[in-house]
Amino acid sequence: MPPPSDRLSVGGALPSSLGASVGERAQIAAPPLSPSGNGPGPSSSTASEVFDSSLTFQNELYRGRKEILRESYIPPRLPHREHQIRQVAQILAPALRGDLPSNLLIYGKIGTGKTAVVAQVRADIQRRTDTAGRITFITLNCGNVDTPYSLLQTIGNTFAGGVPEQIPTGWSLDRVQARMRELMDEKPATVILILDEIDRLVAKSGSDVLYTLSQLNTELAHARLVLVGISNDLKFTNQLDARVRSRLNEEKILFPPYDAVQLQDILRDRAAEVFREGVLDAGVIERCAAYAALENGDARRALALLRLAAEMAERDRAKRITSDHVVKAKSRLEQDIIVECCKTLPSHCKVLLYAILQAYERRRGGVLTGEVYDGYARLTQRLGLQPLHARSISNYLSELENLGLIRVTIVSRGRGGRTREIVVDVPISETLPALEDDPFLAPLGRPRSRNQTLLTNFDNPGRASGGF
Ligand code: ADP
Ligand code: MG
Repeated sequence: MPPPSDRLSVGGALPSSLGASVGERAQIAAPPLSPSGNGPGPSSSTASEVFDSSLTFQNELYRGRKEILRESYIPPRLPHREHQIRQVAQILAPALRGDLPSNLLIYGKIGTGKTAVVAQVRADIQRRTDTAGRITFITLNCGNVDTPYSLLQTIGNTFAGGVPEQIPTGWSLDRVQARMRELMDEKPATVILILDEIDRLVAKSGSDVLYTLSQLNTELAHARLVLVGISNDLKFTNQLDARVRSRLNEEKILFPPYDAVQLQDILRDRAAEVFREGVLDAGVIERCAAYAALENGDARRALALLRLAAEMAERDRAKRITSDHVVKAKSRLEQDIIVECCKTLPSHCKVLLYAILQAYERRRGGVLTGEVYDGYARLTQRLGLQPLHARSISNYLSELENLGLIRVTIVSRGRGGRTREIVVDVPISETLPALEDDPFLAPLGRPRSRNQTLLTNFDNPGRASGGF
């Protein structure tokens, strides 16, 4: 079974992988410590010096594993989710008695603890020896498994004994469905199928496969299936066809966002597990919680801020984590989100943004739309594309403005003439390289001098204003 994984989305989920890369960069950038006595001799490679230094370097900040601050870590306690844990447990409890629980839909904004709560209830049920062999859990993240075929195939294959029994690719959907049902029905177990980020499956593939699953119990002779859907999209059920909606909605639980005080409790628990006593300055937790409370009460964001703040402190070789580190972490996080945002723009919009950034960098200030159009036209030509009409470009400008990447203002040009001026609202040193690395823009080549700029700006993150 593939492990559930959390998705990356702009403005909501955190790009945790990017957060990780910050830490990795930070460690490698640190000066190598002198290896004492039994360390490598003068002939050792730069790489082994780095490995050696990371092994010998006893970090003064941490007492526990750093992974405790990662979103994949499920803590032993989930403060402020006791009520939801009890609700989920009550709904699934009939399975312990051999009865069939109702299907359940859990919904709430990103970072409200949905995945963690369900994982905890699952673990609690699995810990009970009396459930062994009678209850089977399958957790799938529908961001990864997002087609009817892959969904039915993956479910079927969790019951397949060995490779020969596995459902291959290339069958008809009907055949996969029949085989999946056969494999599931071999044992008289209650199968609890957790479909995390179910909204993404429906957005990509519609709800037919959910209908198939929701009526499977009428076709199974031995096994029984319970569906637990988890959605980050509050309006998710509107997209469902009425028959599926009523089956999936048998029970519903809403996860409200956390407020700043609740986020503080969550962070304090984690901090106590991971940091040495006294390394957190007063106000660090409060600041992380306050920032994240403003961002939809997202616990993931609060944790990412704390993790990044610790990494910033580590990078400075500081003995304590201060509010300053949190401010740096916030800025870093916003930049990472911007980089992710750029990656998801439509192709022509990327070219347009690239033209804007180039002109802005050249001028070191606001650029006029005419100059941007010219730059855009030149770039599309070099990419072998047909430039879009001014109207579409204008729409894309509004889109970039809505995303908070640029600001467009009207300026007067003397004698009553007026034109539009574009101001870039994101750090150029991060955004330009992100676009240059984009496969679509790669044929344009990367200007040589940029790496230097990037390094210089890394220590001095600053942006005009925050659209994110
Ligand atoms: P969702 O699935 O709603 O997007 P998650 O369950 O993935 O949110 O939670 C995001 C992160 O925040 C995870 O690392 C999770 O462990 C942590 N988290 C969420 N709620 C709590 C809580 N009440 N206590 C401790 N950690 C929490
Ligand atoms: Mg989740």
